[in-house]
Amino acid sequence: MFNRSVMCLLYLCCAGSAVPSIAQNTRATPAYREMKSFLDAIPAIDTHDHIRPFDHLRSDADPGSNDEAMNLRALLQHCYYAWFNPLAPHPADMSFDDWWGKAKHNFDNARATTFYRFLLPALQDLYGVDFDRMTDDQARELDRKIIENYRDPRWLYEVVTERANIEVMVVDRYWAPLEMRSDYSFAVPVLNVNSLVAASCPSEQEQPHSDPYWYAKAHGFKVDSLDDYVTLLDRMIADAKQHGLPCLKNTLAYSRTLEFRNVPKERAAKAFGRPRKELKPDEMRDFEDFVMWRICELAAKHDLPIQIHTGQARIQGSNPMLLVDMIEANPKTKFVLFHGGFPWVGETGAIVMRHTSHVWVDSVWLPTLSYTMAKRAFHEWLEVMPSDRIMWGADCGHAEGIYGATELTRRCIAEVLVEKVAAGDLTEEHARRIGRQILRDNALALFPVLKQHLWKHTGKKMEPETATTGPQGTWRGLHSQPK
Ligand SMILES: [Zn+2]
Repeated sequence: MFNRSVMCLLYLCCAGSAVPSIAQNTRATPAYREMKSFLDAIPAIDTHDHIRPFDHLRSDADPGSNDEAMNLRALLQHCYYAWFNPLAPHPADMSFDDWWGKAKHNFDNARATTFYRFLLPALQDLYGVDFDRMTDDQARELDRKIIENYRDPRWLYEVVTERANIEVMVVDRYWAPLEMRSDYSFAVPVLNVNSLVAASCPSEQEQPHSDPYWYAKAHGFKVDSLDDYVTLLDRMIADAKQHGLPCLKNTLAYSRTLEFRNVPKERAAKAFGRPRKELKPDEMRDFEDFVMWRICELAAKHDLPIQIHTGQARIQGSNPMLLVDMIEANPKTKFVLFHGGFPWVGETGAIVMRHTSHVWVDSVWLPTLSYTMAKRAFHEWLEVMPSDRIMWGADCGHAEGIYGATELTRRCIAEVLVEKVAAGDLTEEHARRIGRQILRDNALALFPVLKQHLWKHTGKKMEPETATTGPQGTWRGLHSQPK
């Protein structure tokens, strides 16, 4: 009796200790390595990035404003690290060694943050550098190699299409959305509608390619009333469809609440034709709310899904729950909730669960914001919605950031799937199918126009066509403007 009890206790202890060790060290298991290799081999469809024309990244671009060209500091500056971590300035006349002497102490409080850690796989895999333990000589060499790589666009193509294994990328060219053009052979632009929602009168946009009234003039449309403006929106969205753009996009959560009310036309018309600076906040909001609802209707009319930035922006007003009334009232509009609503990932899951027929969740940026929350989100979402509702995107502006975000996403999905298999909640075959859906198949199903851009089946590498000449706008603006 006694021996039996001891045996039982021993068994329970062993069983008890085995389970958490599996859960905590998933990435050390052979099952994880197999799943990760499987996911790495899937040519991914990346639903969202901000990659600028190569001339803005090029090391020798625009002499005299070298701080805009790619180097180690620019790499850190332009992909989130510097959002809340310090980064010493690097004046043009300062040597690398003098800059690094200051900058190397900037990472002390950043070591555990995902904004820091997501870049490490890129520096390890692409440059052979362990950034956590890097010597001063290695730092100098890393900076030199980055500068050297950005003399040739083939570097960017190699990292994005081969190393990160991205076949097609959707790019939010928020600096010139109405150009409706692409800068890279692997990229397809979206129509960012931020400037359309806010344009109560002409000539308020700094860039012509963000200005709907510039577009109207260029296409010979007269816009004398709010009705005319809605007709213009219809034409622009039809044009986007005609140009093969896969969807619309907005990042209004950086500037206002996501609660868009269905206001009557008469109220919105009071703001039409008047500059923003003359409008009371309520009048401006009436106009924006009215236009956003019309855009939702037009998105349905032209069968273009709308990607909406939710969560982490202005914290107040970016909870995706604020969209639910508009989602419910527009059942024919396809909504894609970006960033999993971080930090409201559970709420986002509930919205998709309730409105499954026309709402998707995109994990874009989430594994870069918090790896742990992304894992939790994938675990939960797979339990509360069909697996064809989930997508991913890297959400960066340079090759190294895109590589790092892609690697973290593949890791995260592999960990979650392997844990579900280990728990007996998925077969391995079903888990692999889900992995392929998230990384590729779901985006191709929701944005069928992207199928025209598939090229990996040819077996050839993609090379840059010619040097790209970009539109106006500065590289510095990446993500200092709304994402
Ligand atoms: Zn973004």
